[in-house]
Amino acid sequence: MRGLLGWQQAHHQLRKALPGYCAFCLAPAQIGQGWCSTCFTELPWNTRCCEQCAEPISQKAQRLCGRCLSEAPQITCTQTGFLYQSPIKELVHDFKFNASSRAGTLLAELMLTKRPSQLGAALLAVPMHSKRARERGFNQAQWLAEQLSQRTGLPLIHAKCHKLVVSQRTLNRRERAANLRGAFSLAGPLPKHVTLIDDVVTTGATGNALAAVARQAGAERVDMWAVARTPLGNS
Ligand SMILES: [Zn+2]
Ligand SMILES: [Zn+2]
Repeated sequence: MRGLLGWQQAHHQLRKALPGYCAFCLAPAQIGQGWCSTCFTELPWNTRCCEQCAEPISQKAQRLCGRCLSEAPQITCTQTGFLYQSPIKELVHDFKFNASSRAGTLLAELMLTKRPSQLGAALLAVPMHSKRARERGFNQAQWLAEQLSQRTGLPLIHAKCHKLVVSQRTLNRRERAANLRGAFSLAGPLPKHVTLIDDVVTTGATGNALAAVARQAGAERVDMWAVARTPLGNS
């Protein structure tokens, strides 16, 4: 049984590594892309969401979610093409924890299919604490930002992370902000409009903390461009 499972896993990895075939199924991929048109259509697109934080919203006419209406975030626009659900979730996991460059390239390509109409003058990856980067071997946001910088021609600005931030899901908004105080620094002056790059937006607190630092360093508008959004619901 174990042998068979191992073989299936190996086969699965091999399948994902084959150029010319869809990363999500065995069908031939569309020319120049890593997916077939059927899988692409069925991906968990985050189509109806808040302009500022990308939280899914149910009302079609609504532009902003209740949270952003009651307290405007530091980020002007968040673009996350997908919800953090299968198969995007597995792809992000493969990229992040197995350091799969194939998965990373696919994610960057998928991000580019929903490129924000305005990106500003530079990209800025959400930085990772050096201890975590050492443990993981790389910073996934930085890796994506480098790919997107090459594809868009926009320069990359580097920020530093000074705090090892633990999961923030159980914290409320104020606690998250306190947890992130003093976490980031960067050298200014920044261009007037910059776009932050991350893999997954969960609470939005990290992006907001970095956006606040970017604003202090001279940016007047800060946007976020990430792969996916974890819906917050009522938390
Ligand atoms: Zn497919
Ligand atoms: Zn919102």
